[in-house]
Amino acid sequence: MRIVVCIKQVPDTAEVRINPETNTLVRDGVPSIINPYDLHAIEAALQIKEKLGDVTVTALTMGPPQAEDALREAISMGVDEALLLTDRAFAGSDTLATSYTLSRAIQKIGFDLVICGKQAIDGDTAQVGPEMAEFLNIPHIAYVKAIEEISTQGIRVQRLMEEGYDIVEAPLPVLLTVVREINEPRLPSLKGKMRAKKAEIKKLTHTDIDAEEDKLGLTGSPTAVKNIFAPEARKDRKMFSGSPAEQVAALVEELKNLKCL
Ligand SMILES: Cc1cc2nc3c(=O)[nH]c(=O)nc-3n(C[C@H](O)[C@H](O)[C@H](O)COP(=O)(O)OP(=O)(O)OC[C@H]3O[C@@H](n4cnc5c(N)ncnc54)[C@H](O)[C@@H]3O)c2cc1C
Repeated sequence: MRIVVCIKQVPDTAEVRINPETNTLVRDGVPSIINPYDLHAIEAALQIKEKLGDVTVTALTMGPPQAEDALREAISMGVDEALLLTDRAFAGSDTLATSYTLSRAIQKIGFDLVICGKQAIDGDTAQVGPEMAEFLNIPHIAYVKAIEEISTQGIRVQRLMEEGYDIVEAPLPVLLTVVREINEPRLPSLKGKMRAKKAEIKKLTHTDIDAEEDKLGLTGSPTAVKNIFAPEARKDRKMFSGSPAEQVAALVEELKNLKCL
C-alpha cells in the first residue's frame, strides 16, 4: 500500500504579526513549522504502516526551497520518502491551483490513501484536501478523529461532528483529512534525525508532473487575496436588558434604526 501525506510548512502563528501599514503578514524572522494538523496526518500514516507492514509512506509538500526542512522533519519522524514540489510556475497559487498541482504529483507517485491535515493554520481554508480528492476523482472523508479499521480494500473511520461522531466506510483509494483528536504525533527519534540529515529530498517541477501550465500559479488561480487584517476590537457595543421578548424587540428596533432591516 502507498500512502501519501500532504504537509504544509507554515509560519509559527504564535510569532506572527500583521504590518498595520501594508496589511500583510510579517514573516521576517518568524520560524517555520510543519502545519500542526499535518503532524497528526504523518502519525496516522506511520501507525497504519506499523499495523499493516507492507506500506510506503511518502511526504509531499509544495512550497519554496526552504520547505525542504519540513520534509526532513517528516523523515525524522519515520516517513519513507519525501518529495518537494518547487517551481516558480507555482508561485501565487490559490487553493485551486495548489490542489491541482499536488494532485498531479500524487497521480504521478501512485497512491492508495492520501492523508491531509484538516486545515492549514495560515491559509485556514480547509479546501485543499477535498479539492484534491475531486481532482483525483476519489472519495474523501473530512474531520477524521479515529481510524477503526483499514485493509488494502477499504477503511472505516470516525468523523468528528458537532455532537458526537459518524462512522464512515469507503473503499480505497480515498483521501482523509484528520483532526487533532486522531492521535498524539511522535517526536523524531535520534536514528530518524540522522536519517533525515542524509536523506535525498526529490524535487519536482511542473514538467515532472505533466501539469497543464494554465492551471498553475497565478494564471491558474481564479481567486485573489484583496486584503489581510486583524479585526479591530470594536467598542461601540450595545447591551439590551429585560425579558428575552423585550430584548428581541429592542434589537429589531435598533436594526431598523441602522437600516439593516
Ligand atoms: C483566495 C486566495 C488567494 C491566495 N493567493 C495566494 C498568493 O497569491 N500567493 C501565495 O503564496 N499564497 C496564496 N494563497 C495561499 C495559498 O493558496 C494557500 O497557502 C494554499 O492554497 C493552501 O491553502 P490553505 O493554507 O488554506 O490550506 P488548507 O486547505 O487549510 O490545508 C488543508 C491541508 O491540505 C494540505 N496542504 C495545504 N497546502 C499544502 C501545500 N502547499 N503542500 C502540501 N500540502 C498542503 C495539508 O495537509 C493541509 O493540512 C491564497 C489563498 C487564497 C484562499
